[in-house]
Amino acid sequence: MCLFSTPPLVEFKPSLDTCSVCGGALKVQKTRPRMVTTLHIGKFYAREVILVCSKCDCKHRCEQLGNLVPPGANFGYDVLVYVGRALYIRHRSEEEVVAELAQRNIQISPRGASSLGSKFIVYLAIAHDRCSNDITEAMRLSGGYIFHLDATCEGRDPILMTSLDSISHIVLGNVKLPAEDEKHIVPYLRVLPTEGKPEGYLATMTTSFLLISIGWGYIPPPVSYVITSLVGKTLT
Ligand SMILES: [Zn+2]
Repeated sequence: MCLFSTPPLVEFKPSLDTCSVCGGALKVQKTRPRMVTTLHIGKFYAREVILVCSKCDCKHRCEQLGNLVPPGANFGYDVLVYVGRALYIRHRSEEEVVAELAQRNIQISPRGASSLGSKFIVYLAIAHDRCSNDITEAMRLSGGYIFHLDATCEGRDPILMTSLDSISHIVLGNVKLPAEDEKHIVPYLRVLPTEGKPEGYLATMTTSFLLISIGWGYIPPPVSYVITSLVGKTLT
Protein backbone atom coordinates (compact mmCIF):
# COMPACT_ATOMS: atom_id res chain seq x y z
CA MET A 1 0.00 0.00 0.00
CA CYS A 2 1.32 3.47 -0.92
CA LEU A 3 1.99 6.00 1.83
CA PHE A 4 0.46 8.74 -0.37
CA SER A 5 -2.28 8.32 -3.01
CA THR A 6 -0.57 10.91 -5.22
CA PRO A 7 3.12 11.87 -4.97
CA PRO A 8 3.43 14.87 -2.60
CA LEU A 9 5.51 17.93 -3.46
CA VAL A 10 8.31 18.63 -0.99
CA GLU A 11 10.54 21.70 -1.17
CA PHE A 12 14.21 21.37 -0.29
CA LYS A 13 16.16 24.58 0.29
CA PRO A 14 19.55 25.13 1.97
CA SER A 15 19.15 26.57 5.48
CA LEU A 16 22.09 28.96 4.96
CA ASP A 17 21.56 32.73 4.95
CA THR A 18 25.07 33.55 3.75
CA CYS A 19 27.76 31.75 1.79
CA SER A 20 29.64 29.20 3.93
CA VAL A 21 32.83 29.88 1.94
CA CYS A 22 33.09 33.70 1.86
CA GLY A 23 30.07 35.01 3.82
CA GLY A 24 28.59 36.63 0.71
CA ALA A 25 24.86 37.05 0.08
CA LEU A 26 23.03 34.11 -1.48
CA LYS A 27 20.47 34.27 -4.23
CA VAL A 28 18.32 31.63 -5.89
CA GLN A 29 20.08 30.28 -8.94
CA LYS A 30 17.35 27.88 -10.00
CA THR A 31 14.65 25.54 -8.76
CA ARG A 32 14.75 22.05 -10.12
CA PRO A 33 11.79 19.68 -9.75
CA ARG A 34 12.33 15.97 -10.06
CA MET A 35 10.55 12.78 -9.14
CA VAL A 36 12.32 10.91 -6.35
CA THR A 37 11.61 7.44 -4.99
CA THR A 38 12.90 6.14 -1.66
CA LEU A 39 12.02 2.99 0.24
CA HIS A 40 10.72 4.75 3.34
CA ILE A 41 8.69 7.51 1.67
CA GLY A 42 7.85 6.08 -1.75
CA LYS A 43 7.47 8.41 -4.71
CA PHE A 44 7.45 12.21 -4.25
CA TYR A 45 8.27 15.39 -6.15
CA ALA A 46 11.36 17.07 -4.80
CA ARG A 47 11.48 20.77 -5.60
CA GLU A 48 15.11 21.62 -5.04
CA VAL A 49 16.13 25.25 -4.59
CA ILE A 50 19.78 25.80 -5.49
CA LEU A 51 21.41 28.93 -4.09
CA VAL A 52 24.46 30.66 -5.52
CA CYS A 53 26.81 33.14 -3.86
CA SER A 54 26.79 36.62 -5.38
CA LYS A 55 30.47 37.11 -4.49
CA CYS A 56 32.31 33.83 -5.14
CA ASP A 57 29.75 32.05 -7.35
CA CYS A 58 29.79 29.00 -5.06
CA LYS A 59 26.66 26.79 -5.34
CA HIS A 60 24.79 25.61 -2.25
CA ARG A 61 22.40 22.65 -2.32
CA CYS A 62 20.08 21.27 0.33
CA GLU A 63 21.85 18.79 2.60
CA GLN A 64 18.66 16.90 3.54
CA LEU A 65 17.91 16.06 -0.09
CA GLY A 66 21.57 15.20 -0.68
CA ASN A 67 21.37 12.67 2.16
CA LEU A 68 18.38 10.96 0.55
CA VAL A 69 19.32 10.79 -3.10
CA PRO A 70 22.41 11.44 -5.29
CA PRO A 71 22.41 14.75 -7.22
CA GLY A 72 20.15 14.52 -10.27
CA ALA A 73 19.10 10.92 -9.53
CA ASN A 74 15.55 9.61 -9.18
CA PHE A 75 16.13 6.69 -6.81
CA GLY A 76 17.29 7.18 -3.22
CA TYR A 77 20.41 5.71 -1.69
CA ASP A 78 18.26 3.19 0.21
CA VAL A 79 16.87 1.79 -3.07
CA LEU A 80 20.38 1.67 -4.51
CA VAL A 81 21.67 -0.28 -1.48
CA TYR A 82 18.66 -2.61 -1.55
CA VAL A 83 19.33 -3.43 -5.23
CA GLY A 84 23.08 -3.85 -4.70
CA ARG A 85 22.65 -6.20 -1.74
CA ALA A 86 19.96 -8.20 -3.59
CA LEU A 87 22.12 -8.62 -6.70
CA TYR A 88 25.53 -9.23 -5.13
CA ILE A 89 24.84 -10.67 -1.67
CA ARG A 90 21.52 -12.52 -2.11
CA HIS A 91 22.33 -13.32 -5.77
CA ARG A 92 18.88 -12.34 -7.09
CA SER A 93 18.37 -11.73 -10.81
CA GLU A 94 17.40 -8.27 -12.04
CA GLU A 95 13.86 -9.51 -12.72
CA GLU A 96 13.59 -10.87 -9.16
CA VAL A 97 14.78 -7.54 -7.75
CA VAL A 98 12.16 -5.73 -9.85
CA ALA A 99 9.45 -8.07 -8.46
CA GLU A 100 10.67 -7.59 -4.86
CA LEU A 101 10.63 -3.82 -5.19
CA ALA A 102 7.17 -3.88 -6.79
CA GLN A 103 5.96 -5.48 -3.54
CA ARG A 104 7.21 -2.31 -1.84
CA ASN A 105 5.51 -0.03 -4.38
CA ILE A 106 8.82 0.82 -6.04
CA GLN A 107 8.54 0.75 -9.83
CA ILE A 108 11.81 0.10 -11.64
CA SER A 109 12.78 -1.70 -14.86
CA PRO A 110 15.34 -4.56 -15.06
CA ARG A 111 17.65 -2.15 -16.88
CA GLY A 112 17.17 0.42 -14.11
CA ALA A 113 17.97 -2.22 -11.49
CA SER A 114 21.11 -3.17 -13.42
CA SER A 115 22.18 0.47 -13.53
CA LEU A 116 21.65 0.88 -9.78
CA GLY A 117 23.66 -2.31 -9.20
CA SER A 118 26.60 -0.82 -11.13
CA LYS A 119 26.38 2.42 -9.16
CA PHE A 120 26.28 0.43 -5.92
CA ILE A 121 29.65 -1.11 -6.81
CA VAL A 122 31.15 2.33 -7.54
CA TYR A 123 29.83 3.81 -4.27
CA LEU A 124 31.08 0.76 -2.37
CA ALA A 125 34.57 1.17 -3.86
CA ILE A 126 34.61 4.88 -2.96
CA ALA A 127 33.41 4.19 0.59
CA HIS A 128 36.02 1.44 0.97
CA ASP A 129 38.74 3.78 -0.20
CA ARG A 130 37.63 6.55 2.18
CA CYS A 131 37.63 4.07 5.10
CA SER A 132 41.17 2.92 4.31
CA ASN A 133 42.73 4.47 7.44
CA ASP A 134 39.93 3.11 9.67
CA ILE A 135 40.40 -0.40 8.25
CA THR A 136 44.14 -0.23 8.90
CA GLU A 137 43.53 1.00 12.45
CA ALA A 138 40.90 -1.71 13.16
CA MET A 139 43.31 -4.44 12.06
CA ARG A 140 46.11 -2.93 14.17
CA LEU A 141 43.89 -2.76 17.27
CA SER A 142 42.82 -6.39 16.84
CA GLY A 143 46.44 -7.50 17.04
CA GLY A 144 47.41 -7.58 13.39
CA TYR A 145 46.14 -9.26 10.28
CA ILE A 146 46.55 -12.41 8.23
CA PHE A 147 46.97 -11.61 4.58
CA HIS A 148 45.13 -13.85 2.16
CA LEU A 149 45.85 -13.29 -1.52
CA ASP A 150 44.46 -15.19 -4.48
CA ALA A 151 43.35 -14.69 -8.05
CA THR A 152 40.92 -16.24 -10.46
CA CYS A 153 40.06 -15.85 -14.13
CA GLU A 154 37.80 -17.19 -16.83
CA GLY A 155 39.24 -17.87 -20.27
CA ARG A 156 40.96 -14.82 -21.66
CA ASP A 157 39.34 -12.41 -19.22
CA PRO A 158 41.64 -10.30 -17.02
CA ILE A 159 42.70 -11.91 -13.75
CA LEU A 160 40.60 -10.88 -10.76
CA MET A 161 42.91 -10.59 -7.75
CA THR A 162 41.46 -10.35 -4.27
CA SER A 163 43.07 -9.92 -0.89
CA LEU A 164 41.46 -10.09 2.53
CA ASP A 165 42.33 -10.15 6.19
CA SER A 166 41.50 -13.68 7.29
CA ILE A 167 40.89 -12.54 10.89
CA SER A 168 38.34 -9.78 10.34
CA HIS A 169 37.24 -11.10 6.92
CA ILE A 170 37.50 -7.56 5.57
CA VAL A 171 38.26 -7.51 1.86
CA LEU A 172 41.32 -5.30 1.47
CA GLY A 173 41.17 -4.84 -2.26
CA ASN A 174 40.03 -6.19 -5.61
CA VAL A 175 41.65 -5.48 -8.91
CA LYS A 176 41.60 -6.80 -12.45
CA LEU A 177 45.08 -7.46 -13.77
CA PRO A 178 46.24 -8.39 -17.28
CA ALA A 179 48.79 -10.83 -15.84
CA GLU A 180 49.69 -12.40 -12.49
CA ASP A 181 53.24 -11.12 -12.36
CA GLU A 182 55.43 -8.79 -10.31
CA LYS A 183 54.93 -5.82 -12.66
CA HIS A 184 51.19 -5.79 -11.99
CA ILE A 185 50.84 -7.30 -8.50
CA VAL A 186 53.38 -5.24 -6.56
CA PRO A 187 51.73 -1.83 -7.35
CA TYR A 188 48.42 -3.35 -6.23
CA LEU A 189 49.94 -4.56 -2.95
CA ARG A 190 51.39 -1.14 -2.19
CA VAL A 191 47.99 0.64 -2.20
CA LEU A 192 46.20 -1.80 0.10
CA PRO A 193 45.04 -0.50 3.51
CA THR A 194 47.72 -2.42 5.38
CA GLU A 195 50.43 -1.24 7.73
CA GLY A 196 53.56 -3.25 8.30
CA LYS A 197 53.95 -6.97 7.93
CA PRO A 198 51.02 -9.32 8.50
CA GLU A 199 51.11 -11.99 11.22
CA GLY A 200 51.03 -14.54 8.43
CA TYR A 201 49.89 -14.93 4.90
CA LEU A 202 48.31 -17.39 2.57
CA ALA A 203 49.28 -17.10 -1.07
CA THR A 204 50.43 -19.18 -4.00
CA MET A 205 54.12 -19.95 -4.40
CA THR A 206 54.49 -17.23 -7.07
CA THR A 207 52.85 -14.49 -5.04
CA SER A 208 54.73 -15.59 -1.91
CA PHE A 209 57.98 -14.70 -3.70
CA LEU A 210 56.47 -11.31 -4.57
CA LEU A 211 55.55 -10.70 -0.94
CA ILE A 212 59.13 -11.49 -0.02
CA SER A 213 60.32 -9.06 -2.72
CA ILE A 214 58.36 -6.15 -1.18
CA GLY A 215 60.16 -6.70 2.10
CA TRP A 216 57.81 -8.90 4.10
CA GLY A 217 60.28 -11.78 4.16
CA TYR A 218 59.07 -15.31 4.71
CA ILE A 219 56.25 -15.51 7.26
CA PRO A 220 54.91 -18.99 7.85
CA PRO A 221 51.10 -19.05 7.79
CA PRO A 222 49.34 -20.20 10.98
CA VAL A 223 49.09 -23.98 10.71
CA SER A 224 45.56 -24.15 12.11
CA TYR A 225 44.40 -21.68 9.51
CA VAL A 226 45.94 -23.70 6.69
CA ILE A 227 44.23 -26.87 7.88
CA THR A 228 40.81 -25.26 8.21
CA SER A 229 41.23 -23.55 4.85
CA LEU A 230 41.93 -26.88 3.21
CA VAL A 231 38.61 -28.31 4.44
CA GLY A 232 36.75 -25.18 3.41
CA LYS A 233 36.26 -23.67 6.83
CA THR A 234 37.81 -20.81 8.72
CA LEU A 235 38.45 -20.21 12.39
CA THR A 236 35.87 -18.14 14.24
ZN1 LIG B 1 30.74 32.88 -1.45
